[in-house]
Amino acid sequence: MPEGSHRFQVGSIACTVLSDGYYSYPTSWFFPNADPAHLTSALASHHLPPDAILSPYTCLLIETGRHTVLVDTGAGEYSRSSGAIQSRLEIAGVRPRDVDTVILTHAHPDHIGGAIDPCGRPAFPNARCVLSEIEWEFWTGARTDLRALQVPETAKDSLHSMARRCLGALRHHIEPLERETEIVPGVVAIPAPGHTPGHLAILVTSDGQQLLNLGDAAVHPLHLEQPDWQNGFDLAADRALVTRRSLMERAIAGDMHLMAFHFPFPSVGRVAPRNGGWHWTPGW
Ligand SMILES: [Zn+2]
Repeated sequence: MPEGSHRFQVGSIACTVLSDGYYSYPTSWFFPNADPAHLTSALASHHLPPDAILSPYTCLLIETGRHTVLVDTGAGEYSRSSGAIQSRLEIAGVRPRDVDTVILTHAHPDHIGGAIDPCGRPAFPNARCVLSEIEWEFWTGARTDLRALQVPETAKDSLHSMARRCLGALRHHIEPLERETEIVPGVVAIPAPGHTPGHLAILVTSDGQQLLNLGDAAVHPLHLEQPDWQNGFDLAADRALVTRRSLMERAIAGDMHLMAFHFPFPSVGRVAPRNGGWHWTPGW
């Protein structure tokens, strides 16, 4: 597989992580409540610069044999340094019309932008588009309240406008979920609220192996090392920390592999408890 793709098996299910690109964020947006000196030293210990986070966008292709499922679609035209998902799928031998299920962990632009094409039509014309019902209602309703986000107003405005534009275009394809639900055999969506009201984690299970896709329940490995560090894009920051902890406990109890959309590519790895948090070891 070319750079930007990484394929592995979860039991009999073929999974491929596909890079949509990346984006550079001000560090303060990712770690709004971290002590600045502690944050700088933590970043330095990972050989990372202090001022900006170069954050990957990583989608998950799941091929069960009967179903072709894409979890998150990347940013589409949202930024110049992303939007590669269609070409990555093509190289992986998957045409847009082959995808029968798109699962959106949530309706932020980096996850939903690639679900529509440059003309504003669904990019995966044959796919049902699975999203939490709470998420749908939050973004399409009349009172979308983003005041609790710890990012600038311009960023909030773009989250809101992109969600409405994409969800509007997808409205006839959307299949809203109310609770933990098996989407196709072996693929379960799990409510994981906090980052957004209807944020989902995705669990892939086959032949005794499991992969838990965290979505944006953690957006950097430092959010695992420091379980109290918030993400400025979390709408309900306290709730997001509770969700993050419960997903980690579920992953450790079940001896699962993990995936996280914004973690260093290929964005898969494992966790183990360490110093009150969790240590991330990349790889499958
Ligand atoms: Zn994201």
